[in-house]
Amino acid sequence: MNSQYGMVFYPQNACFKKVSPEHRNQVLAGLSSEGFLGELFSIRYEGQKKAQTGYLIGDKFLKLITFLGCSPHIAVSPPENIADWGNFCHIEIQQHQNPIFFKGLNNSRSSCPQCKSRVAKMLPEMQQWIPDSMHIVCPKCHQTSLVEDLNWRHSAGFGTFFIIIHSIYPNEAVPTDQLLNIFKHESGSFEPWDYFYYEL
Ligand SMILES: [Zn+2]
Repeated sequence: MNSQYGMVFYPQNACFKKVSPEHRNQVLAGLSSEGFLGELFSIRYEGQKKAQTGYLIGDKFLKLITFLGCSPHIAVSPPENIADWGNFCHIEIQQHQNPIFFKGLNNSRSSCPQCKSRVAKMLPEMQQWIPDSMHIVCPKCHQTSLVEDLNWRHSAGFGTFFIIIHSIYPNEAVPTDQLLNIFKHESGSFEPWDYFYYEL
């Protein structure tokens, strides 16, 4: 079950790659030892067919993310009542067989990589995305770009492998450089890492 808001990390160059189970396990073990990922949980609420699973935040998590503004109100253990699920900050690892377009914010901020003008395709069209196939022409400088090469400015992403932090509001928090370095280091060939926010 998705929370209403979250922050998603993804390796940009894994866009066209399949992630092997061994590589995935290696990445997760590294993120655990660095204190980003906590324990795996599984909880089934009354009336729900499926258990909710994910990772608790690790013991160094709050040092690896910088919350902007006043202190964050985040719940770090699974709520007793499923109605409170939306405030529960936890981590989900999402993996796909084939690369997907992952919608982030409701208003994407895609812009031309050459002149920075706003260029966009409608969401239903983006949801049909497959790599290396969808082009867009900038109305201002007439540059043709693949949609995955636009500058998405933390509003959406592409790929097969995503690390989702649920229940962080858009722009409420930013990763520290240390966290981005941990992702890069622990994932070997996956880099650079970027991130975006999502809202339902
Ligand atoms: Zn342009």
